[in-house]
Amino acid sequence: MPYHHILVAVDLTEECDPVIHRARELAVSNSAKLSLVHIVEPMAMAFGGDVPMDLSQLQQQQQFDQAKERLDRLIVKYPELSREYSHLTYGQPRQEIHHLAKEQGCDIIVVGSHGRHGLALLLGSTANDVLHGAPCDVLAVRLQTKS
Ligand code: AMP
Repeated sequence: MPYHHILVAVDLTEECDPVIHRARELAVSNSAKLSLVHIVEPMAMAFGGDVPMDLSQLQQQQQFDQAKERLDRLIVKYPELSREYSHLTYGQPRQEIHHLAKEQGCDIIVVGSHGRHGLALLLGSTANDVLHGAPCDVLAVRLQTKS
């Protein structure tokens, strides 16, 4: 059965290129719609709430603006992506990616995976996190681990 709607989750680093490439190929071969998402993790969440409120709000705005700029650059770089189907949201990646996939009726989520092992695996990864309780299929695109 072909996929109809692909959701590609990107961390907006240079590592997101192979993930987008794979999602793009999948979109072409399935004649599927392609949506993109990036989640901005609030500083307060990343640091366990120990950030003063004003500072946290200021940083959130800066983080959001920076992420928007990077997302815009990706949309220009990849003509298959569109502003209309690109989502930038605050929160915890797993929760927000699952929520968006459900809301948009996506039938596959594409994420990058470093294939971590040992301690790094115990600490978990976004790909692992997204896989658990996913509302649809998940494709983990293997990324090169920098040595
Ligand atoms: P990580 O486990 O954080 O190295 O990330 C692996 C993959 O998870 C990335 O290649 C993205 O596909 C996805 N990912 C990580 N962080 C985010 C984020 N903030 N928003 C959307 N996707 C993300």
